[in-house]
Amino acid sequence: MPLLAKESYMKSVAIFFTGGTIAMRQGEDGAVRPALSLGELLAELPALPEQARLLPVEWATLPSSHMTPELMFRLAGDVRAMLARDDIAGAVILHGTDVMEETAFMLDLLLDSAKPVVITGSMRAYGEPGYDGLRNLASAIRACLSPLPAGLGVALLMTDKLFAAREVTKVHSMGIDAFGSPAAGPLGSCVAGGIQIFRMPVPHAPLGANALEARVELLSLVPGADGRLIAFCRENGVKGLVVEGLGAGNVPPGALEELGKTVNAGLPVVLTSRCIEGGVWPVYGYSGGANTLRDMGVILGGNLRAQKARILLMVALGMAADAGEPPCEIARKVFDNFPN
Ligand code: ASP
Repeated sequence: MPLLAKESYMKSVAIFFTGGTIAMRQGEDGAVRPALSLGELLAELPALPEQARLLPVEWATLPSSHMTPELMFRLAGDVRAMLARDDIAGAVILHGTDVMEETAFMLDLLLDSAKPVVITGSMRAYGEPGYDGLRNLASAIRACLSPLPAGLGVALLMTDKLFAAREVTKVHSMGIDAFGSPAAGPLGSCVAGGIQIFRMPVPHAPLGANALEARVELLSLVPGADGRLIAFCRENGVKGLVVEGLGAGNVPPGALEELGKTVNAGLPVVLTSRCIEGGVWPVYGYSGGANTLRDMGVILGGNLRAQKARILLMVALGMAADAGEPPCEIARKVFDNFPN
């Protein structure tokens, strides 16, 4: 039997660098800014297993707040193309932590490969005592090589914990343990050089969107809110609206009239809750209660956080372009079928 050439059994992990604190350092003025290249970071990694290789992709140098939904969508396409290669075992995405959960969720919705995809970054800047970037990066590579089980979806790995893209949220703006899945807990953790998986997330079908509708706004309907911002959105080219209500999804009655006009104009409106856990439930039938909103045609966002519901609505409306069905119908189907 012919011996296999060494290259043919090597596993490569693609490392997409998009930016974030993981490659930033503090300047003399005390402010933290982008500073390192991906090559400089990779040069500091501990040695990889013999048959593993890294394929660096300098994709962007963007802090989270410069990331856009269109860029997230483009990243999903580039990761998909990379995962289709036989020599690629998985992909690690290095990303700013502030909107890491949105990018992770977008990738989770759009990718359909069984290969692992792990998104990570750091809370502390390079050179700071306790810099977490190299450890997170090394753990993410290890998770890809383990490999993570198919069906896990896109995983977010920070501080030795693995989270499901759909469930995870940034819970601390500065602390090292900045991510959590308040309702469900982590999927697994990094222990003694290995990865332990505790549970699998509820699966969802990948969404075949060839385009994205980025004109989706998110409004938080705080006590006393009226409908002016809703009307503004409707009259200014917004194609879908996510509203964040109170508790189980109840909104101030002053917003009702404009919400109704917006739904009647054929714009999908998705209701979410500002509560971190529990989501929306059509319990209350008083003016502005979620039960009333559902009967008006507002789509219930389940237990997705508002920022994630916005991503799902953008993808759903992107699908509507090909489907030949009214955007509202597609949006409703996508939300109704999404496991929540
Ligand atoms: N502000 C940074 C960003 O999200 C934070 C980080 O990367 O941790 O780009």
